[in-house]
Amino acid sequence: MTFEALGLHPLIQKALADIHYDKPTPVQEKAIPAGIEGKDLLVSSQTGSGKTAAFMLPALHRFASVPFEKSDKKTFNQKRQAARAKGEKVRYEPAHPKMLVLTPTRELAMQIVQSSEDYSAYLKHFRTVAILGGMPYPKQMQLLAKNPEILVATPGRLIDHMHSGKIRFDQLEILVLDEADRMLDMGFIDDIETIIAATPETRQTMLFSATLDGIVGNMARKITRDPELIHIHSVASRHENIDQMIHFVDDLPHKNRLLDHLLHDRSLDQALVFTATKRDADIVADRLAIAGFSAAALHGDMPQGARNRTLTKLRRGQVKILVATDVAARGIDIPNITHVVNYDLPKFPEDYVHRIGRTGRAGRHGLAISLVNHNDNNNVRKIERFTKQSIPVNVIEGFEPKLSFKAAPSKRKPSGWKPGSKRNASPKFSQRGFGKPAAARKDGAGRSRGQGRSGEGRRAAESHR
Ligand code: AMP
Repeated sequence: MTFEALGLHPLIQKALADIHYDKPTPVQEKAIPAGIEGKDLLVSSQTGSGKTAAFMLPALHRFASVPFEKSDKKTFNQKRQAARAKGEKVRYEPAHPKMLVLTPTRELAMQIVQSSEDYSAYLKHFRTVAILGGMPYPKQMQLLAKNPEILVATPGRLIDHMHSGKIRFDQLEILVLDEADRMLDMGFIDDIETIIAATPETRQTMLFSATLDGIVGNMARKITRDPELIHIHSVASRHENIDQMIHFVDDLPHKNRLLDHLLHDRSLDQALVFTATKRDADIVADRLAIAGFSAAALHGDMPQGARNRTLTKLRRGQVKILVATDVAARGIDIPNITHVVNYDLPKFPEDYVHRIGRTGRAGRHGLAISLVNHNDNNNVRKIERFTKQSIPVNVIEGFEPKLSFKAAPSKRKPSGWKPGSKRNASPKFSQRGFGKPAAARKDGAGRSRGQGRSGEGRRAAESHR
């Protein structure tokens, strides 16, 4: 299958050739023709499957296939110039985009904007703009004043602009909900419903989510008409190209020593280290930098400019080890990330899947290592149940945990591991019962997927992570 066979506009094909997209991925093969037809889509697929192009390409094709209407932009500019000439205050008309992409995080939004710009490189007059929390308002006003055709936004900030009359959606043709399950998990459901209610019923809706079960499925059915259902269970979604392993640690000094050792792995190109809190991201990054690693932190307390600079350095390879929280690292797509280290296990098994999916990008091989305290076994069990995979335990000579545990030999051997490490792996963590059961948590860690958080709960969680 080729992009030409999918019937894409020749100028889009030209742009895809420039960025070396030789053939469509499975999700693109299915979504692009249906999207071009104007059908609503419900797609279950993971990051890394090529889903951004699956919704951007049919949309761009559709826009490129109708003659460009210049008058709208002219009116905008003329009004502004006339106001300036009279020395009056420039009044901005509300922007009225043709396409809106809702996405859970700023990083993901910026990547979508970048992809959209790549795909539309030869399409004149197309502007894609991101409206994100953390970006200064005057800057956003300038962007909106250009009346972009495509808006990529996180729900919270978009709502602010809608309420202040800076954006209206009466001319919206295409609505995309990207990583819809994640947006609901983050408590955006009310915001999303408000936004959808402001869009025309005639719109085309494309919803992408890791799962279409539970409340995501309910919402998906409510907001689409006769949708095309697409389920993609790619290699990436099962993480078959990522070796996963657990290392037991006794205490913090043991954990830090082991982390340093693991990060000296010669097969490591770039690594992402996950911590539970923003404070720990800073502490671990500082410690690694002092130990001589090219390390930096990324988390939600950093100003957007600093976050962008760190991500640019990571992309250029100037930062080798990024220490991040879940929210900040979401959507990072850097093919050279060979290692993901869970310095702390995530609270929710879904986050484990998202974390390890930051490695093994673009068909490469990845290694995901979890540093596990002996009290963490409930969390590991939850992850194993969720991923339907057992995670082998690994022990490195000189870094053995003092707390002993009995382990049967592994059936599944992680490849890509080097001499010097001895595998003391086991078939299933959950069968062994290490340590004590995790203490009952007051933080709602046992909450099942899809129950969502209230807006307040989300903000509290966001500010902590
Ligand atoms: P996504 O799932 O949209 O985040 O895409 C994951 C990665 O795959 C990104 O680096 C994309 O640029 C890349 N990608 C998407 N589609 C293709 C394709 N057809 N050929 C090659 N790379 C692709």
